[in-house]
Amino acid sequence: YEAKRLKCGVYVFNQQLDKKNARSAMIGKELNHALEKGEFSLVYQPQIDVVSKNVIGVEVLLRWHNEILHQVSPYEFIPIAESTGAILDIGNFVFEKAFEEFEDICNEIVKNNKKYTQANPFRLSINVSILQLSNENFLSNLFDLINKYDCENAKLMLEITETLIIENPRKIGTILEKIRQSGIEVSLDDFGTGYSSLSYLTKLPINELKIDQSFIHGLTTKKTNLTLVKSIINLGNSLGIKVLAEGVETNEELMILKNLKCQFIQGYYFSKPLNKTNLMNFLKEH
Ligand code: C2E
Ligand code: MG
Ligand code: MG
Ligand code: MG
Repeated sequence: YEAKRLKCGVYVFNQQLDKKNARSAMIGKELNHALEKGEFSLVYQPQIDVVSKNVIGVEVLLRWHNEILHQVSPYEFIPIAESTGAILDIGNFVFEKAFEEFEDICNEIVKNNKKYTQANPFRLSINVSILQLSNENFLSNLFDLINKYDCENAKLMLEITETLIIENPRKIGTILEKIRQSGIEVSLDDFGTGYSSLSYLTKLPINELKIDQSFIHGLTTKKTNLTLVKSIINLGNSLGIKVLAEGVETNEELMILKNLKCQFIQGYYFSKPLNKTNLMNFLKEH
């Protein structure tokens, strides 16, 4: 929608654009009180090993229910929280809540399941945005949490996006190195949608490539998607980096990924994101 320029030089903005700006402003305003009002919760989406069909871990996804706006998607509110800085407090909440809830999951399920060992731990994967990672207190807060909970046979994975690396490769490199030294793993989220140079993959301690769901959805219909997904999997396999495909919705997609030797998958085909109780039931059944 373009703004219309009148003869007198005045611009008339499209109604849609006005509505969008008003909604963003509203979201930004409501986000400021969302934590104290207890409007956030977490859901967990299982990640599966393609060959063994074992659940290898879960990704933590944030949910926001506001009384005026109702359910708002993180695709909409995370970028706004990043622009207002609210993401720092929200991000702290995500880590604290995830560790707290995960302690029960660990004690009831992970610890008692022979599949999960120190050598083959259950992973808790958490999304982190650039502002959080570059915050000076991020790592010390994280290490405090890890020491406080100390979940047996589990490990932490951080999901970061490519854009994060491009903005400040030196600084991010130093932080990622400290993360690696403490046994935390790093997954490159939405892989294939950014512009990062492939040389980062050999220079930075990255443990996993997470193929963006936009490439998975057209896997059976678009030849270019198939070519791209195949190249990413081969790249990961030859560099010794794990590869996870996200947004897998059909058995057909799963079969293609299996043939291409993709290790892990995540998507509605196996499970939608689940709240803590439903996740615990899911894990007991699998
Ligand atoms: P993401 O990290 O790439 O997460 C994957 C998104 O795809 C999630 O959306 C998930 O619910 C959805 N999804 C999973 N499987 C399928 C499928 O089979 N089909 C389809 N169509 N979608 C699927 P969600 O939960 O709405 O989150 C959106 C994005 O918001 C995430 O993308 C992530 O970038 C961001 N986000 C979510 N939680 C957090 C958080 O705690 N912190 C930060 N910084 N970002 C978060
Ligand atoms: Mg993610
Ligand atoms: Mg993603
Ligand atoms: Mg993302």
